[in-house]
Amino acid sequence: MPYSLAKHLCDFVDASPTAYHAVENIACALEARGAIRLREHEAWALEPGATYYVIRGGSALVAFRPGLRPASEEGFALAGAHTDSPALKARLEKPLSARGFERVPIEVYGGPILATWLDRPLSLAGRVALRGPAGALETRLVNFARPVGIVPNLAIHLNRDLNKGFEYNAQTQLPVLLGADPAAVQAETVTGSALLRLIAKELGVEPDSVLGADLFFVDAQRCTLFGVDGELVNGYRLDDLSGCHAVLEGFLRSSPAPHGQIACFLDHEEVGSTSRVGADSSLIRDLLARIAVGGGLASEGFYRALARSFAVSVDVAQAYHPSYAEKFDEYFAPLLNGGPAIKVNANMRYATDAGAEARFRTYCAEAGVPCQKFMSRADIAPGSTIGPVSSALTGIPTVDVGAPLLSMHSIRETIGARDHEAMAAVLARHFGASPFEGA
Ligand code: ZN
Repeated sequence: MPYSLAKHLCDFVDASPTAYHAVENIACALEARGAIRLREHEAWALEPGATYYVIRGGSALVAFRPGLRPASEEGFALAGAHTDSPALKARLEKPLSARGFERVPIEVYGGPILATWLDRPLSLAGRVALRGPAGALETRLVNFARPVGIVPNLAIHLNRDLNKGFEYNAQTQLPVLLGADPAAVQAETVTGSALLRLIAKELGVEPDSVLGADLFFVDAQRCTLFGVDGELVNGYRLDDLSGCHAVLEGFLRSSPAPHGQIACFLDHEEVGSTSRVGADSSLIRDLLARIAVGGGLASEGFYRALARSFAVSVDVAQAYHPSYAEKFDEYFAPLLNGGPAIKVNANMRYATDAGAEARFRTYCAEAGVPCQKFMSRADIAPGSTIGPVSSALTGIPTVDVGAPLLSMHSIRETIGARDHEAMAAVLARHFGASPFEGA
């Protein structure tokens, strides 16, 4: 079936409206292939070549296979991507009712193209902490998977300059409209938070049992393939669920090897990666240390293992956009379906150095896929990603790469289906190859 992996990506995107759902779906895929879940607070007994995974905080997951030989001699091959994307995060408790309108105040998470969130059916998803029937605290995922709200624009007649550029105020102009019924509101004395009532009803609990929530208003439309030949993918959160899906696919395709294989799915990249579940945390280093110790190594062995390792940081790249050609250095502007892009920046917005670039180019050639290079115009600073942070914390040489993507941080982003298949293929090659080249 043409672009079958891209279609599978769409299913993954549709089932993963938040980082929590992405982690749950990655865990399900790993379990289906026999992976064993480990918990950080428990003692581990690791078998060489077996597949394990660890979840931290519900929104970050690391899957790994200890190598068949000592990590001090063979190192680790790592690949990582991020589970989060820009969204409107709901403020749960605050009622915002006026003249029959029930609205939910929000906070902007990350850097979305805000206009794309307006006048569009939004679903609601995330996790809720509550006191269960037996009195114990529990956390439940919730995914409405249907439209529940909308952020309405003002009529153009009342804002004639809207198309000349408009800055939305997050406090006053981005609350999400959930309902409108003047008669019902007049009949009620105390309404409380409409969102709290909605969540409680969805979960089948009393509103006062809900004690905390991480809930996001997300796109309600499904991911889809389009284009002359169906060669393009359009959907929510392709930055960076496409990276997560490619890393997972590459990891699952690879067999146990002399070296350790580590697939990292990290949260909070969109807000700088600093949290216990982000790239700027102890997570990767903690787990590498435990894998090394579990393999019988003392601390010097762990440091030797780090020095023999190599990482691929997978996050989308800004694709060439023909309507805005002046924003790109034409020579370094990756094309949709032109292959994975290696991301390079002199100011270390990306971790790539010459050796890492050469390594990834070699993997692409060995996997039989084309390869491109992204460098921003010399007068424009690009964004950053997880590679520079995780590389700094572990000392592991890292290449930053990504599928070219249009409309980065829009509620609907576009990538090439062929690029996604190519990325999975080259990552499988990376997981299979010895990470140490004697640098
Ligand atoms: Zn990203």
